[in-house]
Amino acid sequence: QATPLSPLARVRPLTCAESRRGDRRAVRSLGDSAVHVSAARHDATFGFSAVFDAGTSQEAVFEGSGMRELVELAVGGFACTVFAFGQTGSGKTYTLMGPLAQSEARPAAPCALGLMQRSFACLLEQSWGAGLALSASYVEIYNEQVRDLLSPGPPCALPLRWSKSRGFYVENQLSVEFESLEAVTSLLLEGSRRRRSSAHALNKHSSRSHALLTVHVRSRAGVTGSPAGPQHGAGSSRQGTLCFVDLAGSERVKDTGSTGELCVEANNINRSLLALGEARAARGAARRRRRGCHGAPPPAGHCISLLAKPRGKRPHVPYRDSKLTRLLARALGGSGITLMVACVSPSSRCLSETLSTLRYASRARSVTTRP
Ligand code: ADP
Ligand code: MG
Repeated sequence: QATPLSPLARVRPLTCAESRRGDRRAVRSLGDSAVHVSAARHDATFGFSAVFDAGTSQEAVFEGSGMRELVELAVGGFACTVFAFGQTGSGKTYTLMGPLAQSEARPAAPCALGLMQRSFACLLEQSWGAGLALSASYVEIYNEQVRDLLSPGPPCALPLRWSKSRGFYVENQLSVEFESLEAVTSLLLEGSRRRRSSAHALNKHSSRSHALLTVHVRSRAGVTGSPAGPQHGAGSSRQGTLCFVDLAGSERVKDTGSTGELCVEANNINRSLLALGEARAARGAARRRRRGCHGAPPPAGHCISLLAKPRGKRPHVPYRDSKLTRLLARALGGSGITLMVACVSPSSRCLSETLSTLRYASRARSVTTRP
């Protein structure tokens, strides 16, 4: 079946600090599929598959995002990716995991849990009785180094390798089996704490740290009689993945009150992520043209690529050098199904970043992929 790539937009509420300093709300939703930006010289409306306004609960975001369907696809053997992108402080981490990464030890209130915990619950529900083996890996890309967030001890860099059958993968990364919501939630918490402390120790570069938590869904039942998914090799059991990507972890940027440069850097990283899709899609299209297949449906990467198409010249992005883009290559350019959540601040002070995030994201609308 055809699956539309659904770019979603979430506008977070003004933070206390923003309210205190008298920031104006310049971004609002118009109904549930458009975002309106109005400020001094700007007046623009962007269309999305779904829009979540400042008042939208975490539960409503989960239910309205198509996340349940994505979990089902992962169970069905597909490579599914959710990534949150947008300016630093726009609510990416909050959307994915709730306030967990910001609070100490205290467990988050159930109503504040993010897309990740809600997806885990949904996945576990489906796994009961279905004979699914679940495991999770959690890595951070920090300063162009891939580091395991689940292995104990000080973080050390793991090599990124490529093989024909697996594509890019992290060698020796820990994959931990789990059977309960408590177990996987504690993996998330544990890993996120490691990520945070390393970011604090070297906060200057924290905006270059991305976290990727991947749940591997393996059907224990094996292959007999099951429909073939894209990752269904002969003689192997079906394996789907559900990967959550939290881009740039520069909470420190806000703490220290610095704005400008680091925000720009984070945004550039997001841009390079989108640009990868464009490059890959262009290569794929050229390959298909050479082979004479014109009617082939665009791969998921192509959808993302559309977002990256700038008005004028394409900015230079070093995507070839980026571990993040290599790790996401399959999700972006291959058979994957990708859900993207564009996160924006409502503040008039963030206007230019907000406009660029919305502009990129809204282009993915009406694009259809066929996994
Ligand atoms: P990012 O990960 O994009 O840098 P965060 O998720 O850390 O941003 O969010 C920045 C701040 O805004 C945090 O203090 C977070 O708790 C708050 N916040 C973000 N989104 C929401 C929301 N929808 N509702 C309430 N608070 C939010
Ligand atoms: Mg964050």
